[in-house]
Amino acid sequence: MKFDFKPTTIPDSVSISDWKNWTWQLRNSLKTYKDFIGHFDLSLEEREAFNHGEEVFNIRTTPYYAQLAGKSSSDPIRRILMPNILELAAPAQAMLDPLGERKNNPAPRIIHRYPDRVLFLITDICSVYCRFCTRKHFTGQEEAFVRPDEYEKALNYIKTHAGIREVILSGGDPLTVGDAQLDRTLFDLRKIDHVEIIRVGTRMPVVCPMRVSEDVVRILRKHKPVFLMSHFNHPRELTAEAAAAVELFVDHGIPVMNQMVLLNGVNNHPAIVQALSRRLLYLRAKPYYMFQCDPSRGTDHLRTSIEDSLQIQKELWGNLSGLAMPNFSVDIPDGGGKAYYVPNYEVFKSEEKRSYQGWDGIAAEYMNPSAAQILKPQDAEMYYQEWEDLKGART
Ligand SMILES: *Cc1c(COP(=O)(O)O)cnc(C)c1O
Ligand code: SF4
Repeated sequence: MKFDFKPTTIPDSVSISDWKNWTWQLRNSLKTYKDFIGHFDLSLEEREAFNHGEEVFNIRTTPYYAQLAGKSSSDPIRRILMPNILELAAPAQAMLDPLGERKNNPAPRIIHRYPDRVLFLITDICSVYCRFCTRKHFTGQEEAFVRPDEYEKALNYIKTHAGIREVILSGGDPLTVGDAQLDRTLFDLRKIDHVEIIRVGTRMPVVCPMRVSEDVVRILRKHKPVFLMSHFNHPRELTAEAAAAVELFVDHGIPVMNQMVLLNGVNNHPAIVQALSRRLLYLRAKPYYMFQCDPSRGTDHLRTSIEDSLQIQKELWGNLSGLAMPNFSVDIPDGGGKAYYVPNYEVFKSEEKRSYQGWDGIAAEYMNPSAAQILKPQDAEMYYQEWEDLKGART
């Protein structure tokens, strides 16, 4: 099926050139109660949240994303952007720093949790403050770009740790930064010999696709290999504008990988995940992760149970192309790293064989070859010796 990606309707009061200008979108973001009542008929729970503005997480949305949200307060996109008094209700779990990032923070703006890759948080600003944000301890402190002294320290950390092969630009949203600073950052990272891959983690293709210009894409391409990590959560976020942004990246050789979060009342249904994944794949964006929502403060009403999430995964497995299937993963609270889940089809195991019942119920066995003929790692080493990579991985 050819998918139909619909353009958003531009409000009559805005000129087309303003609407398509990303800095106009940021300058005209909705932040206050007054801004919001101009666009939305607020429910009691939503209005109450504005009355507690100091206690709830930052509030902000681009006019474009506000336009995508529906009239009903139960609309999925509205639930992502609209504060709700439920954020202050007594939670089952509410952590300020659910990923334990502050203890894996060896240099300013650097989160180093896995040996070969780091996050580099180059800004605290986002153009939309998602209600489920996992980095509420950091985002929205209104530092547009990392201070020069912090920037140098962060860069120096990456330079002096030769094991770092991948740098993930994050924040905040790294595409809220201007072209010149983005180019400069990528340029500085590319000067470091051991940095192989750069990722840019951004929600701008979702909430402000007008940010994705030929210029941005050329900058990313110039510093290849760069991967674009997008964050679409709902098929309705794939408007004609967003689809064009995704295609622009891919057409310029920048692979797009999507990380979604399962959210109560937003996308916690297999049909929605399936529709999102198929549309993304059609645009050549790879569904990469399907995350369990972190127990960040104020997210209880947006979280699913792990059992619900596993059920969704189970329904998709086998029915959805492997290319379109995201990996379901839970971030272990307090910085334990990611825990993956795969459906377990194994019903029996011994040294000789394993028995399975596959996704649609067919049962079969896998017999191991006789142990005597399998090379032991020390025998196999001679075939691998020439691979520097392997030595690196083992040190
Ligand atoms: C998720 C994460 C990464 C990237 O993990 P991948 O599985 O390679 O995508 C890196 N650092 C931190 C701190 C993370 O939370
Ligand atoms: S874009 Fe990311 S960092 Fe920014 S508020 Fe949303 S989830 Fe948080």
